[in-house]
Amino acid sequence: MADFPHASLANTADRLRALPPYVFARLDELKARAREQGVDLIDLGMGNPGGPTPQPVVEAAIAALRDPNNHGYPPFEGTAGFRRTITEWYDRRYGVKLDPDGEALPLLGSKEGLTHLALAYINPGDLVLVPSPAYPAHFRGPAIAGGEVWEVPLSADNDWIIDLGRIPEDIARRAKVFYFNYPNNPTGATAPREFFVEMVEFARRYEILLVHDLCYAELAFDGYQPTSLLEIEGAKDISVEFHTLSKTYNMAGWRVGFVVGNRHIIQGLRTLKTNLDYGLFSALQAAAEAALNLPEIYLHQVQQRYQTRRDFLISQLETLGWQVIKPKATMYLWVPCPPGMGSTDFALEVLQKTGVVLTPGNAFGEGGEGYVRVSLIADRDRLQKAIDRLQDAGIHYQMAVSESQLFDARFPV
Ligand SMILES: *Cc1c(COP(=O)(O)O)cnc(C)c1O
Repeated sequence: MADFPHASLANTADRLRALPPYVFARLDELKARAREQGVDLIDLGMGNPGGPTPQPVVEAAIAALRDPNNHGYPPFEGTAGFRRTITEWYDRRYGVKLDPDGEALPLLGSKEGLTHLALAYINPGDLVLVPSPAYPAHFRGPAIAGGEVWEVPLSADNDWIIDLGRIPEDIARRAKVFYFNYPNNPTGATAPREFFVEMVEFARRYEILLVHDLCYAELAFDGYQPTSLLEIEGAKDISVEFHTLSKTYNMAGWRVGFVVGNRHIIQGLRTLKTNLDYGLFSALQAAAEAALNLPEIYLHQVQQRYQTRRDFLISQLETLGWQVIKPKATMYLWVPCPPGMGSTDFALEVLQKTGVVLTPGNAFGEGGEGYVRVSLIADRDRLQKAIDRLQDAGIHYQMAVSESQLFDARFPV
């Protein structure tokens, strides 16, 4: 900011300055410096699925691009076709009946909707319950809105599932919104159906708006089928559920997501959004329909791909002394740091010595301290290479802090 000619203009709004530093941004800087030095980075840090979007989706997009009917502003509420496809998909997958007029809204990616929902519902000072660790949009959206975030601590002892008993009565009474996400990013945890029933009871008792992020609806393994919050009786009175096409369909760059659930809550979000954006390009909505209608075999292939990587990496980490819990869903392993090492130190050390990028758990809040998140986004050869490099650098679970400091940084960044 020093060279900004009008220093006073460089003062961003308080709501921006109140945000905690974004760990991913710092990690990006370090990655850029390593790349400049010619390091062949193996990036297992991001949740950006590798691989192309399925061909039928690309073809549908091309056809839709050629249709001039798609070239104008899209309808604010999304195209009727995509909304109907969403509700039919819900019925097929979860046996949940939704009205395409009002209970489903396309989004510019789910992160957009998760964040804007906070602006639509949270006043400065309102209390918002957010687990720690959590996907950053779940606490940054409320923070931008000026809400007071009360972190619900997750722990390995409870399999990273929210323990409602840890929320004090006065906090529960004050809370207005509760964000949560299973299958969970970053921990890979899945929650049983009974947990969802408890969440609905809790939210109804204290009149809390429930926001469930079902981003990993389909990246599930070993026959496990994630639960939709809307399957639970009474849930639709008090909740919305967010989905994305980014992960399952390799469409992260397309920015397509949607929200379903209570029509009044969705209407609030829609009212805010009509003031901010014009919705998703109609041609992309046509492509998204093609994605949700892909044959089941596509899903099985995707699931198989991640499942194979999961099993491979867990067995390889075991040779380095790690006991990693096998997740039933998501594209992440949640790996404890060597005893005595913090998340940032460990991730930095691994990056400097091996060029392998991991995400420090504290990027997801204090509750993620002591862990790193490893994304299953590289193919088997690259995963093998990552393990070889860890081995060569003497990185293993039981390494003592002092021992680790004896090594010179091979890739000083
Ligand atoms: C990746 C991810 C998202 C973001 O999805 P987009 O639709 O690409 O914005 C949302 N929530 C969770 C938990 C995620 O892991």
